[in-house]
Parts: sequence; structure tokens; C-alpha cells
Amino acid sequence: MIYHPEQYRLRDQRMKPFIDPDEIWDYLNSVKPDKQRVRDVIQASLEKKRLSLEETAVLINATDPDLVEEIKEGARTLKEKVYGERIVLFAPLYVGDLCTNNCQYCGFRSSNKGVKRLTLSDNELITETKALIDQGHKRLILVYGEHPKYSAEFIAETVRIVYGVKHGSGEIRRVNINAAPFDIPGFRTIKDAGIGTFQVFQETYHEPTYARVHLGGVKRNYEWRLTALDRAQEAGIDDVGIGALFGLYDWRFEVMGLVRHVNHFEAVYRVGPHTISFPRIQNALSLDIDKTHIVKDEEFVRLVAILRLAVPYTGLILTAREPAHTRTQVLRFGVSQIDGGTNLELGGYSKAKKEEQDLSMEQFQINDTRSLNEIMDELIRSGYIPSFCTACYRLGRTGEHFMEFSVPGFIKRYCSPNALLTLAEYLEDYAPEDTKAAGYKLIDEKVEELGKHQKTDRLNEKILQIRQGKRDLYF
Ligand code: SAM
Ligand code: SF4
Repeated sequence: MIYHPEQYRLRDQRMKPFIDPDEIWDYLNSVKPDKQRVRDVIQASLEKKRLSLEETAVLINATDPDLVEEIKEGARTLKEKVYGERIVLFAPLYVGDLCTNNCQYCGFRSSNKGVKRLTLSDNELITETKALIDQGHKRLILVYGEHPKYSAEFIAETVRIVYGVKHGSGEIRRVNINAAPFDIPGFRTIKDAGIGTFQVFQETYHEPTYARVHLGGVKRNYEWRLTALDRAQEAGIDDVGIGALFGLYDWRFEVMGLVRHVNHFEAVYRVGPHTISFPRIQNALSLDIDKTHIVKDEEFVRLVAILRLAVPYTGLILTAREPAHTRTQVLRFGVSQIDGGTNLELGGYSKAKKEEQDLSMEQFQINDTRSLNEIMDELIRSGYIPSFCTACYRLGRTGEHFMEFSVPGFIKRYCSPNALLTLAEYLEDYAPEDTKAAGYKLIDEKVEELGKHQKTDRLNEKILQIRQGKRDLYF
């Protein structure tokens, strides 16, 4: 590959820390959010331009209630015009909670003596995967503590085991990972197992806070974590997910940190991260943290709307940490992926559902305990198209998230039809009768809508084939 001088300069930025706290604070302390400026920034975002740090600060500093409403409205418009109605569903599967780190906020921290430490055996992993397939899942994220036992080879093997499970008419078609950062050879080993996204959350971009809450283990090293996904990129994993744990430090700083992280990837690797996660700290076993920066509901809604506008191309993940009503509210601002039927207990999917969570075997408390079907049903009745699509990943159409928005007609040609096909599969194999009826009504309406712009014969034919028992059809 031949690099231009500018690219040489950018390639020098690889695996180097890129957060400058003074730069972030200068913007947050100096940018004045007058009405016209806020409107111009929203407009830039609606033209699908990723916002600069300065522009993001304009939105963050706009605290006037009318301007906050305009920002939320902008995020809703972006969601409707750009993203459409698809919501991708997935489930987390905890493989092991051994951990040598001591992260103050986490139930699995090494100093937490009340935790039952276990790692799923191969058979237990298969049993859990089958239970998830029985719910209707096609996409999982495997989650691990940080421990010598969870080496790159171990993780790669668990991925292969999950892909190998065929059960009834289903299987898991995409396995994502949330685990400790690796070195480049380690990331390569994991890539070779055929993973989708590799997620590493920075937790906080504010280094002094990072040092305060990470009390032991490899994770104490801020820079090793900050540059983790650069190493993943170097190893060929160009599908990465970033995140911050909201509640550790000032949420405004963290939003700026996330946007800076996106800028870094776009500048250096020419591809932004696939997803951003923005978990809020939840209760966990013997949790004792400083509550100064806990993010209130209204701030949370604002920060999601700001993130949506700041990074129009990046997928936003909202998990069952949040209660159903918050999820329903925030979905409208452009969240693209949610989990459903979530159970954080190790081995929990294949056991009878408990009334209450057992925090001695779970990383934190969740607040949306609805089953996958309850969530599917609500999405369908609200006009969203729940999707289990994995087509791009399996056809090697990498950078699909970018393609969705940059290739004219891509969403209508591929994403929407594929979402409808995976929904039809779900309705046939896993849905109760009333969800099935509502789901097929939605499919009919959406096919008709698509028919206004393009031929739908092949889509109709594939839907019919699914009703007749064929599976795994996509464009
Ligand atoms: N051990 C891996 C690591 O630390 O990167 C996997 C991470 S953990 C299993 C997944 C994420 O959960 C963490 O990165 C953190 O952001 C989040 N998390 C940890 N404790 C939490 C809590 N009490 N409430 C909400 N989220 C939490
Ligand atoms: Fe371990 Fe991850 Fe929990 Fe930290 S957040 S204690 S690294 S499982």
C-alpha cells in the first residue's frame, strides 16, 4: 500500500493516546450555544456529517429547555429519515466471571469475596446457546472477565463452539465479543474464529478518574485500554465497539471522549467504530461507589440524542440495564441495537427464570427483564422492524454500517428486506399466535411500502419460501 504524506502522519497516530483533557475542557468551557449555532449544528448532522468536538460541545452546552427539545427533535428526525425503523436484537452470554482486575463499580471485581466464580464448561456453553436459540436469537455477545484462563485461544474456542451449535431450525449466526484487550497476535487469534464486533469500553476517558476506580490488575493501565481497539484494527478486526460507563465522571466529558475516539478511528483507519455503548452504572454485589457523577434520566436522554447527532453513522447500543420505559423513550432517538430476554447469570438461560436476580453470579442488576418475545411484540406493535439480520457480515460486506448510509438505496435494497426475512423466520419458529399475526401484518405493510420504490417479487418469493420451511434466506 502506498501512503500519501498526510496518511503517513496519520499512521503515526496508531496506537497512541489521543485524548487531550485540556482540549475537551477548553471546548466545554468556552463554546457558546446560541440558538442559530445549535440549529446549524443539528442541520449539519441531518446532512449526515459527523460533528467535530467543537460542534458536539455546542449541543452539550445547549441547556435551554427549548434548545434541548430541538436537539431531541433533530435526533428523532435523523433516526426516522436516515435509519428507518429497524432495530437489531441480540443477547449477552456470560462465559466466565473469573477476574484479576479490581474495578470498583463491578460485581466481578477481584476484591468482591461474595462472588461465585465459575466458567461454563463446553457442554454448559452448548446448553446455554441452545436455550438462546430457543428464544429466537441469532446474534450473541459473549462476555468474559479478565483472567489468564480467558486467553485468546480460549475465547476463540468458545466462539467456535457457539457457531457449531445447530438446534431445531436455528443457529447463532453472529458472535460478538466483550472481553479484555489483547495484544495484536491475540486479537488475530480471535478474529480467525470468525467474530463479528469486538467491544472494549474505556469506562472513563478521564485518566485521573480511571486511576481512582481501577484499583488492581492489568486494567489499571489506562493507555493499554485506550489503544486496545487500535491493536484490534492492526490485527484486521475492523469491526469494533467503543463505550463509556456513565456515572464515573462528568457525562459531558465522556461524550466528548467518545466522539474523539470516533474521530481517531476515522482519521487513522478510515473507518469509524461500528457501535457505541453508553451503559449507566447499576447496582452490583456490595457496590460502594462515589455517586457524584450519577447520570439523571433527563441527562441520559439528552446524551443519547447528542451522541446520535454527533456520530450519524455509528450504531448505538442500549442494553437491559435501563428499564423498559427508558428504553422505549430512547429508542426514538436512533438506538440501533438492543438486547432482549437478557439473563446475566452464568448458566442462567437454561434454568427456570428466577423472581429476583442473584447478584453473587451476575455482574450487575438489570432493569428490563422482559422476555425476547415481549420485546419483539412491543416493537412490532410500535411499527419498528425487529431484525436478526447477519447478511453483510456473512457475505463479507464489511464496513456494512458505513455502506448502509453511503451507498444509495442500500437500506431499501438489502437491510429492510433482510430484516423482514429474519422477522418472518422468528414468527414461524418462535412467536406465539398473536405476535405472529401482528408480525405478518407489519411485514405486509412494509413490503407494500417498499413496493412503491422497487420490485418486491423476489422478497415476496423468499417470504413464501420461509413460510414453507426454508431458512436463512437473505439478499
Ligand atoms: N472484563 C471485560 C472488561 O472489563 O473489559 C468485560 C467487561 S464487562 C463484563 C462489560 C462492561 O460492563 C464493562 O466494560 C463495564 O462498562 C460494564 N459494567 C461493569 N460494571 C457495571 C455496573 N455495575 N453497572 C453497569 N455496567 C457495568
Ligand atoms: Fe473484571 Fe471487567 Fe468487572 Fe473489571 S469490569 S472487574 S475487568 S469483569
